[in-house]
Amino acid sequence: MTIEGKLERRLLWSDDQGYERARRDAVWNGRKPPRRPAGIVLAQDTADVAAAVRLARERGLQVSVRAGGHSTSAAGVREGALLIDVSRLTSIDVEARAGTAVVGPGVLGQDLDLTLDPLGLFFPHGHCSTVAVGGFLLGGGLGWNWRAYGPGCGLVRAVEVVTADGEVVRADESQNSDLYWAARGAGPGFFGVVTAFHLEMQPKPAVIKAAAHNYPLAARGELLNWLHEIRHEMAPTVDQALCVTQHVTHSPDGPTMLLGTVAFADSEREADDALALFANSPLREKAIWGDDGTTVGSVQHLTGVDDLYPAGLRYAHDNIMSSATASALVPALEAALTSLPTPRSHVNWQNLAGVPELPDMAFSLLGDTLIEVVAVGDDPKQDAQLQAWVTDHARQLEPVAIGSQIGADSMASRGLGPDSYFSAAALSRLKIIRDRWDPAHRFVSFLLGSDTV
Ligand SMILES: Cc1cc2nc3c(=O)[nH]c(=O)nc-3n(C[C@H](O)[C@H](O)[C@H](O)COP(=O)(O)OP(=O)(O)OC[C@H]3O[C@@H](n4cnc5c(N)ncnc54)[C@H](O)[C@@H]3O)c2cc1C
Repeated sequence: MTIEGKLERRLLWSDDQGYERARRDAVWNGRKPPRRPAGIVLAQDTADVAAAVRLARERGLQVSVRAGGHSTSAAGVREGALLIDVSRLTSIDVEARAGTAVVGPGVLGQDLDLTLDPLGLFFPHGHCSTVAVGGFLLGGGLGWNWRAYGPGCGLVRAVEVVTADGEVVRADESQNSDLYWAARGAGPGFFGVVTAFHLEMQPKPAVIKAAAHNYPLAARGELLNWLHEIRHEMAPTVDQALCVTQHVTHSPDGPTMLLGTVAFADSEREADDALALFANSPLREKAIWGDDGTTVGSVQHLTGVDDLYPAGLRYAHDNIMSSATASALVPALEAALTSLPTPRSHVNWQNLAGVPELPDMAFSLLGDTLIEVVAVGDDPKQDAQLQAWVTDHARQLEPVAIGSQIGADSMASRGLGPDSYFSAAALSRLKIIRDRWDPAHRFVSFLLGSDTV
């Protein structure tokens, strides 16, 4: 039987019924790219993925991949490529005694958590519950409790990969170690399809306690300077994100600053100690309102990030990582903070300081602070204006940036190259490994401005 015959109705060419739906569904963002893959394979398992890669070779097509579809720039949807959709590879096999799990790339963070939680286990998946592990882990993955665990890809012990030859291989420390190195951070530049991640689980934190303080925008100078000053003082088991927005706080007078902090601790006492820094902040009396700490049963109850990012809306997103001083960073943000284009648009400031030293892997760039600039609309007519706002303000941050986190739109919209995502040494190693595993460049690479059509 031909490969096409084996794939049956799971293969959709561009004139097949169901193609357009699959093309649009491949992208979580309400903004769908005009790019049209030659075909889409709705893979059910590793065998389908391998068959799809062999079909692409036979037809002389490039290959692109999507898992949860959260790439804001829709990096998986490429003109003329064969798109392998791995969102149906959703198995989770937990080996509780060994503290490991083998997880398909289409597994959503929320489903991983729901499986692990009753077993007393935890994995730092993305803060938005519908981000899939596929793109999240390949791009590094800054998930819950990231300052303690480091990026999620550092907890990947092995990957199963369908290579550009259509072969299924395992890559880990001792076999195909260069491919393993690349799978931990190459993001949309990865040159294979990961069909399973072997993950090292963590014990579920005994206490998860969240605090929130809403500050007026007028206090931004003091608050940002203070957050920067205490970035190393925060316990390493505290996630801190400051979101400047109008939507989440429903403030009638424009945007405010919601400081969200979550402590992952062994006891209530330890959590309270970690959050005391925020409850006793010198700025606390300026807060419009505050909750100094509420214990939740699991991260599933922390829905603030999901509230920021409902599906179906139209997003433009960019980010920078910075290790600049507050005196450089805070003024650089002023224009963005005071010109949010819609009530749901926002700027996030997250503390990355104190993340454990990175192991040797493709994910190689990490600053002290992650700044995200996000415009959110619901009208296609606003898209160009919102994208321009994001691009302009991300550009204004470039003088204080050391690079960006993969998953942003920076290369496509700011006209940058992949050097904004990696250390120079990691990027040159990545190119060498790509040439070894995918010499014909069967797999598309990073989405550049010239690809966006
Ligand atoms: C609302 C929202 C919240 C987010 N929150 C976080 C967060 O808390 N922390 C964080 O670190 N990031 C976060 N991100 C960024 C997110 O991790 C990246 O966009 C990631 O790529 C999404 O993964 P995905 O599988 O859903 O996306 P996809 O668009 O499916 O994947 C992105 C790219 O990864 C590659 N890819 C995916 N799966 C595979 C595979 N199995 N094999 C080979 N290549 C593959 C493809 O090149 C694909 O184009 C968030 C993004 C959004 C939109």
